Amino acid sequence: MSTRRQASDQFDHGAQYFTARSLDFKTALESWFHSGVAKAWTGRFGRVDSKNRIHSIENPETIWVGTPKMSSITRFLSRSLNVSYSQTIVSSQHREEGWFLVSATGEQFGPFDVLVMSCPGPQVADILQPVPMPTVMMKYEPCWSLMLDYERPLHNHWDSLTFDLGPLSWAARDSSKPGRESGHRWVLHASPSWSDAHFKHDSTWVINALLEYFWKFSGRTPRSATAHRWRYARSLSASKEDSYFHAAHRLGICGDGFTAGRIESAWLSGVDLGRRILETL
Ligand SMILES: Cc1cc2nc3c(=O)[nH]c(=O)nc-3n(C[C@H](O)[C@H](O)[C@H](O)COP(=O)(O)OP(=O)(O)OC[C@H]3O[C@@H](n4cnc5c(N)ncnc54)[C@H](O)[C@@H]3O)c2cc1C
Repeated sequence: MSTRRQASDQFDHGAQYFTARSLDFKTALESWFHSGVAKAWTGRFGRVDSKNRIHSIENPETIWVGTPKMSSITRFLSRSLNVSYSQTIVSSQHREEGWFLVSATGEQFGPFDVLVMSCPGPQVADILQPVPMPTVMMKYEPCWSLMLDYERPLHNHWDSLTFDLGPLSWAARDSSKPGRESGHRWVLHASPSWSDAHFKHDSTWVINALLEYFWKFSGRTPRSATAHRWRYARSLSASKEDSYFHAAHRLGICGDGFTAGRIESAWLSGVDLGRRILETL
């Protein structure tokens, strides 16, 4: 659940929205809603068919977003925790005193009683090696994401579009989500197959290619355009377990890599791991 701020603009360049299906997640969502960090997004949603015709979509589920940005929810959940931001962990060690972590700048953290990891599987494996880990979290699809700021409204009146075919899978008027500053900021997501095929292209090439395709829906050139490449965007995993816990190693792994690439599944995985850790205390 990421939000990028550049100059005075803000974009949800990762997860766009979420839905709530399980009772537990609905209950958690209710408290986020009452605390003002989540609201329903009642935009005009459309689907673009293979002939570039746009059809209105009636969403059967409520579409929720974090307010005033997607990352407001994770900030809210971690408000009473002592969190070290902007630290890339490169290795871990399990010693008699507990777990130790080392950051990219060489700083050491620890000892910790339990190590919980929630990053995508391949990143978990890099940090944990040579400790074995579940292979279930290893398959992901990439996504090129574009953040566009337009001076004026586009030539379409939609707040979000999903695409049946072509290089794009999703386009959304980020500024139409509740709690955002006004403006004409759009986020485009390339489809998994297009992102995979052009994963190694540089961002200028990707921006030009996607803007050219999007022109028929925008009719305008943005005053600024930035690209972000998500290597592990959509989890393709399906496990019987919601999380992994090795009691003897005091090691837990959770995240959307266990079930489906959805915010709700990541949350359920974290709750499942929390329960398993508590049972051993
Ligand atoms: C482009 C895109 C679009 C998406 N759209 C939707 C959507 O519309 N709806 C939906 O429900 N879901 C969507 N998702 C999926 C959703 O974002 C994920 O399911 C959810 O964020 C997974 O949560 P997580 O906690 O498992 O992992 P993450 O949110 O990936 O959190 C892992 C954290 O670990 C940190 N990390 C990684 N490596 C290290 C390291 N070495 N050291 C320190 N920290 C590290 C990362 O910075 C990150 O903060 C989308 C994802 C992407 C990328």
